[in-house]
Amino acid sequence: MQEAKRIQQLPPYLFARIEQKIEELKAMGKDVISLGIGDPDTPTPDLVIEELCRQAHFPEHHRYPSSVGMLQFRQAVADWYSQRFNVDLDPRSEIVTLIGSKEGIAHINLCYVNPGDYNLVPDPGYPVYGIGTLLAGGQVYPMPLLEEGGFLPDFSRIPEDTAAKAKLMFLNYPNNPTGAEASLEFFQEAVDFAREYDLIICHDAAYSEIYFGSDKPPSILEVKGAKDVAIEFNSLSKPYNMTGWRIGWAAGNSRVIDALGRIKSNMDSGQFQAVQAAGMAALKHAGENVVKMRRIYAERAKIVVDFLKEIGWNVKQPEATFYMWLPVPEGYTSTSFAEYVLEKSAVVLTPGNGYGKYGEGYFRISLTIETERLREAMERLKGVL
Ligand SMILES: *Cc1c(COP(=O)(O)O)cnc(C)c1O
Repeated sequence: MQEAKRIQQLPPYLFARIEQKIEELKAMGKDVISLGIGDPDTPTPDLVIEELCRQAHFPEHHRYPSSVGMLQFRQAVADWYSQRFNVDLDPRSEIVTLIGSKEGIAHINLCYVNPGDYNLVPDPGYPVYGIGTLLAGGQVYPMPLLEEGGFLPDFSRIPEDTAAKAKLMFLNYPNNPTGAEASLEFFQEAVDFAREYDLIICHDAAYSEIYFGSDKPPSILEVKGAKDVAIEFNSLSKPYNMTGWRIGWAAGNSRVIDALGRIKSNMDSGQFQAVQAAGMAALKHAGENVVKMRRIYAERAKIVVDFLKEIGWNVKQPEATFYMWLPVPEGYTSTSFAEYVLEKSAVVLTPGNGYGKYGEGYFRISLTIETERLREAMERLKGVL
């Protein structure tokens, strides 16, 4: 049976060759250390797990949930926004619960993208923005994130006719994979641009709580009038070590939130209510966990920075996220460098071109690995870099 065009056009899986190499090394009995995966290694806080266990006993949770989420969960999100960003949100009309933010990032395309429409997509970027666009029949217009521009897109470089045709603009700060942060001034610029060209901003704030400086990353919804043109995705996955739980949300423009809810009500039936209740406990009571995680990631980043300085690389401590985005040495491409390091040291790095063509020439290290293993990885790199 012929597969549909939408799945045939999916880009080839860029990490396939690396994964094959990993398998070969493992088959040879090598101890492979992966710095590739961005998935917190420490467990979900106990109080969240305990709340899930308690809530799982309530029979009202055993029935179909609402596809847009429990009002109490959405209220907890609204309370969190109010405390963290001083942003007011109506939990009924301006927040929808998601089965992880990835789910909403993919589905939002079905709400607004007609075949042939353009979306503005950061490059390098989280692959779901572009793939979600393609699956809806849309086309990707890449916005280069360049080091000299602080890894922020330059809106003045987007051709006017492309901007006029575009439906959605994806943004993501703090940024995966570059670790860059955006200022409120930048978000203001984005909101002005979206207003001028009548497009919807989908800001992915999955790393809003993983920061190391004294300035907390802002929400795009702090910009006056942002709700006219923007929604923001966020998730419990990264701050509370809950990637497996699949719980997140979108917040902002009520018409966009309503459209996303209508697509969801036809495609899924929402998240298990006991998981939503546990998510509420995380938002309300697990703030200390986030403080602890920030300390752990900062300590790990320092191990990498100190090691790289020792061997003569000029590297700064990252501003945010649990990634480090670094240029490959002269004479290598992203892929050839990752393959070389893997072969020589059995350490897995992610080649930057996996996040888009402007990621070529970079590699990503994820700090979501036990501190001792990270130290060992750096030891192994000593002879190699
Ligand atoms: C991890 C991550 C997410 C979160 O995905 P969930 O589906 O909420 O687990 C979203 N965006 C980016 C850029 C990420 O790295």
